[in-house]
Amino acid sequence: MNRERLLNALENIDVRGKTERELYTEISSACMEEILSGKRKAPVKCAYYFSVEYLMGRMFYNNLLALGVLDEAREIFSAKGFDLNAFENVEDAALGNGGLGRLAACYLDSAANLGYPLYGFGIRYQYGLFRQKFVGGEQVEEADDWLKTWGDPWSVRREEEKIEVRFADMTVTAVPYDMPIYGKSVNILRLFQAEGSAEAEKISEYLYPADDTEEGKLLRIRQEYFFSAAAVGQLVRKYVKRYGNDFGHFSEFHVFQLNDTHAVFAVAEFLRLLTKEYRLSFPRAVEIAKRTFNYTNHTILPEALECWNVKLVEKILPEIAQILTRLHIFAEREWNTCGYPKEEIAEMSIVRGGKFSMANVAVYMSEHINGVAEIHTKILKERLFSAAYRHARGKFSNITNGVTQRRWLLLCNEELARFYDERLGRSWRDDLSLIWNIDCGNPETLAAFAKIKAEKKRQLASYIEKREGVKLLENAIYIAQVKRLHEYKRQLMTAFAILRIYFDLKNGKLPDFTPTVFLFGAKAAGSYKRAKEIILFLNKIAELIANDEDVNARLQVVFVQNYDVSYAEKIVAGSDVSLQVSTAGFEASGTGNMKLMMNGAVTVGTMDGANIEIVEKAGRENNYIFGASVEEINSLDGVYDPVAFAAAHPRIKRVTDTLTDGTFEDADGKLSDLAASLFEETYNRADHYYVLYDLLPLVDALLKVNREYKDRTLFTRKQLENATRSAFFSSDRAIRTYAEKIWGI
Ligand SMILES: *Cc1c(COP(=O)(O)O)cnc(C)c1O
Repeated sequence: MNRERLLNALENIDVRGKTERELYTEISSACMEEILSGKRKAPVKCAYYFSVEYLMGRMFYNNLLALGVLDEAREIFSAKGFDLNAFENVEDAALGNGGLGRLAACYLDSAANLGYPLYGFGIRYQYGLFRQKFVGGEQVEEADDWLKTWGDPWSVRREEEKIEVRFADMTVTAVPYDMPIYGKSVNILRLFQAEGSAEAEKISEYLYPADDTEEGKLLRIRQEYFFSAAAVGQLVRKYVKRYGNDFGHFSEFHVFQLNDTHAVFAVAEFLRLLTKEYRLSFPRAVEIAKRTFNYTNHTILPEALECWNVKLVEKILPEIAQILTRLHIFAEREWNTCGYPKEEIAEMSIVRGGKFSMANVAVYMSEHINGVAEIHTKILKERLFSAAYRHARGKFSNITNGVTQRRWLLLCNEELARFYDERLGRSWRDDLSLIWNIDCGNPETLAAFAKIKAEKKRQLASYIEKREGVKLLENAIYIAQVKRLHEYKRQLMTAFAILRIYFDLKNGKLPDFTPTVFLFGAKAAGSYKRAKEIILFLNKIAELIANDEDVNARLQVVFVQNYDVSYAEKIVAGSDVSLQVSTAGFEASGTGNMKLMMNGAVTVGTMDGANIEIVEKAGRENNYIFGASVEEINSLDGVYDPVAFAAAHPRIKRVTDTLTDGTFEDADGKLSDLAASLFEETYNRADHYYVLYDLLPLVDALLKVNREYKDRTLFTRKQLENATRSAFFSSDRAIRTYAEKIWGI
């Protein structure tokens, strides 16, 4: 990359008479030319990341930052009378859902910046995650035609590297689109687009199409096999071309990381190629695969652990079904020879109840298996994969998630970055752990930090006013709960806590209450009814409070529409408090918690996921931990009775009654289903996620924050101590660990 040449090229762009899109394409293309100009030397061993989603967000500013020309480019174009902020309207590349996809994006960013050869594989969906708006408080989903307005100048179509993927009933062409990831090395995210026929194109049309019908399930299987097979096919072929078909050295050059189970078909395809096309014996192929694959588990929710009906797989992928069945027999024979108990074999089996357990394939076939936070890995070892762990302890390890400080600090909070520059020089930009050296007790430092937080809050308020048409309270505490909407994340519990505070304010019980704004951002999966009802409930609460003159100067609820990476950048920088209140044992790690911490928000949270490690690093005294621990939740199993619990606590009953007593005119009966989820057995047990059990402790924690916020110096210090101790949560640390401990690159 030649910086001078790039700056020159930018200088020479004529802005006159051009549309924003034309300029966007032209500037992006100039950068791409530089990015792609360098010669890449082939490293010895590369890591390949298989993920069904990548939540890259907006590429423009991130790439200019990576190229080291963002500030200069702003100046160059402002001198020409064009404000680069215009590209804040460029749509996010939202080819992902939430945490899992964003993690993949952070990992690619870190690997490139550290110079590790990590290449991503995935699907180039025509439509990303839906765009969300609210109509009458309810979520409405619109197709995310992300390429329509701005195009995709950050990828290159690689026609010459297309590959055929075969199903029983059709052959599909996988055409790669390469998105360079620029850093110390230039890595590639390769997304495959399905082409060849109208049927074929459906495969890369939507992210997570509904899978409640057989047709939907088949489409999901096709998607998973499509990109896994395309990736494996290319790599194996390239290897054979270079080294012939002695696969004994394959794992010296390749290591595969499965981001959850969505790409486990890659294992089967690898075995298929080696045995059918290159004539290796089955045991030999298994042995080689076992040295190549690794698996990261991201969830213990039973409904999210993929199991595919054997008959369905047979229908469109007969050879793959055959191979997985053979693997099942092969593994059972091995376990029997070792004399493992029957129950343990049943637990680890690849075929269970007529279905392929994709997680069990991954566990059996991987050299390394990791969880994404200490507590999560512990649960994998003790519960989810306990049998496998007993027999292969060395396979299991923990790598706590991380986030890239380039997007989540440098880009979204340049004020805080400059604050570090002024006190530490610029070296912290390459080694985040240096921010620990900030003296959090220094009054001048605290005052400077407080000023930055206030400024980021102002910026956030103005952004929200522009986007939502709502004016946030000033001089208020900003508390954010932003993440996918799921019952285990317990946005419903926060809703009740807000109602509790609302009633107490109305009754004059909270005379010294500091004005507080609760910010929510979350999309609910299209088919997840209950999650949508929680959105409606929160929007109704927002309306109730906004219309109540008694409290609306002290309490406010705003649920922003279409929460995505770009929105997250504003919210994490402008929040005082991070709400991380999942039922203990359910949130594998979380990464939103890390982004908020990095920007100096204190955590109100349960001892779950990475919250535990956040508190360990930042100090319990600097955060607000509440609620039942994993052990306590386990001990409540079969004992907890939410009906009796609510009856015994009038402060709880008063707020849950609002779901059915007409407070919200029952919102067409939609809210009464939420009441049912708490008090009746539905598809889960009554109050499966212990919303009521942890509710009053949450209220207490929020009121404690409210009291302590008054001591502005003390609270600012808590925030700064969080920010300056966040280095462990950099994805640079996580990627270094992967590279050294798992990938050997
Ligand atoms: C970080 C991020 C997430 C993950 O948030 P969690 O709180 O860890 O669940 C989801 N969506 C977006 C847009 C993000 O940036």
